[in-house]
Amino acid sequence: MTVLVRSGVGLLCAVARAAIPSVWRGKYFSSGNEPAENNPVTPMLRHLIYKIKSTGPITVAEYMKEVLTNPAKGYYVYRDMLGEQGDFITSPEISQIFGELLGIWFISEWMATGKSTAFQLVELGPGRGTLVGDILRVFTQLGSVLKNCDISVHLVEVSQKLSEIQALTLTEEKVPLERNAGSPVYMKGVTKSGIPISWYRHLHDVPKGYSFYLAHEFFDVLPVHKFQKTPQGWREVFIDIDPQVSDKLRFVLAPSATPAEAFIQHDETRDHVEVCPDAGVIIEELSQRIALTGGAALVADYGHDGTKTDTFRGFCGHKLHDVLIAPGTADLTADVDFSYLRRMAQGKVASLGPIKQHTFLKNMGIDVRLKVLLDKSNEPSVRQQLLQGYDMLMNPKKMGERFNFFALLPHERLEGGRHQRNARQSKPFASLVAGFSELAWQ
Ligand code: SAH
Repeated sequence: MTVLVRSGVGLLCAVARAAIPSVWRGKYFSSGNEPAENNPVTPMLRHLIYKIKSTGPITVAEYMKEVLTNPAKGYYVYRDMLGEQGDFITSPEISQIFGELLGIWFISEWMATGKSTAFQLVELGPGRGTLVGDILRVFTQLGSVLKNCDISVHLVEVSQKLSEIQALTLTEEKVPLERNAGSPVYMKGVTKSGIPISWYRHLHDVPKGYSFYLAHEFFDVLPVHKFQKTPQGWREVFIDIDPQVSDKLRFVLAPSATPAEAFIQHDETRDHVEVCPDAGVIIEELSQRIALTGGAALVADYGHDGTKTDTFRGFCGHKLHDVLIAPGTADLTADVDFSYLRRMAQGKVASLGPIKQHTFLKNMGIDVRLKVLLDKSNEPSVRQQLLQGYDMLMNPKKMGERFNFFALLPHERLEGGRHQRNARQSKPFASLVAGFSELAWQ
C-alpha cells in the first residue's frame, strides 16, 4: 500500500490509495477454457461434487451463487478480495476522485428534486466501504448545503469479512457497534462524521423512504443463466462432473428446455446469451421504491446493451482464472446487460444510460477536480498516483470505455425537465441530470 501524504484538509486533500495493478475485472472474456496447471480440490469443489452426485448437474447461476455467496464457504463471505493483495481492483480503490464525483452527483439530484429534509444513502455491495467513505467526505465538506438534511447510510452486504472492514473504515468504532446476527439489520453504528449507519443482507430489509441507491460493480457478481442456441432451440448450459477426469467439472448442455429460457427475448438474434433474473428482481424493487418515495439509483458496472455473448469469467490474483478450476478461490463475474435492466424498470421509472465512464466523469468535472488536487500537492509520488488513477479511470483503452453509468429516476424528474425545456427552449431532458450531461448547479 502506498501511503499518500495528506496535503490539505477535507475535500481538497489526496487520500491514500493502493498502488494500481494493471488488471481489472472488466478486462477480458473467458469461456473457462484456459489450460489449468493444477486443479486443487477445494472445500467448495468437494461440496459441489457432492451436490451434483446427489441431485444432478447444476445451472451456471446456481454454481455462481454457491461459489460466491454460500454462507459457509462462499468466495465473498470470508475474504477481502479487493486491491493490490487481492484478486481485482475497482475504481473507488484506484482514485478518491471517483467517489467524490459520485457524492456530487447525489447532492446535485437532491438539490434538483427539492432538497428533501431527509434521505437515505443505500449502497449495494460496498466492498471495503471506500466509495461510501469518499461520498460521505464530500457530504461533510458540503455541510453548509446539507445542513438541515437528516442523512442515514444503509449498506446491503452478504460478506461478514467485508462488513467488518466497512465498519472499521466508516465508523472507526468510535461508538461501539450494535450486532445482531439473527436480525435483518445485522449491524448498526454511527459513522466518523456522526451519521447513523446500518447493515443488511437484502435490499428488501432496508427501510422504504426517500433514498439514493448506489451499485458499483455489484450487478456483475449476480448469478447468470447461460444459454446456447441449438437446432432444437435454446438449451441451457449446466455444470457437471467430468467423467474422464476425477474431481474436475465441465460444461454440458441440458437435453431439453429449462424454465430460465423465459428470460430470453423472443426476437433474440445472438446464438449464446446470459440472463440474470436476480438483477431483474433488484431493478424491479429499486424502481418500485423510487416511484413510490422518490430519490434515484446510480448503477456503474462493465457491461453491454444486449449485444455480448459469453462474458462469464474468473479472476484470481489479478489474473484471469478458469471459472471451473478451484472454485471458491477466485472471483466469478459476467458483464451486465443494461438493456435487460432498462426493460425491468420500464413503466415504473425513467432510466438514463448506459453511458461510458469517461463521458460520465468528464461531465461531472473530473478534470477540474484533478487540477485542484494536483495544485494542492507538492509530493511527486502523490501527483504521480493522481495522474495514474485518472488515466486508469478515463483512458478509453482502460476503464474509460468498459465501464458504464446507468440511472433510474422518477418519471416526474424528467417530466419536470420537459416543462422547463418548453419554457426555456433549451436542451433535451437528460441535460438536466448531471453526468449524463455537464454538471450545472440548479
Ligand atoms: N462496490 C465495491 C465492491 C465490489 S465487489 C467496489 O466497487 O469497490 C462486490 C461486492 O458485492 C462485495 O462487497 C460483495 O461482498 C458484495 N456482494 C456480492 N454478492 C452480493 C449479494 N448477493 N448481496 C449483497 N452483496 C453482495
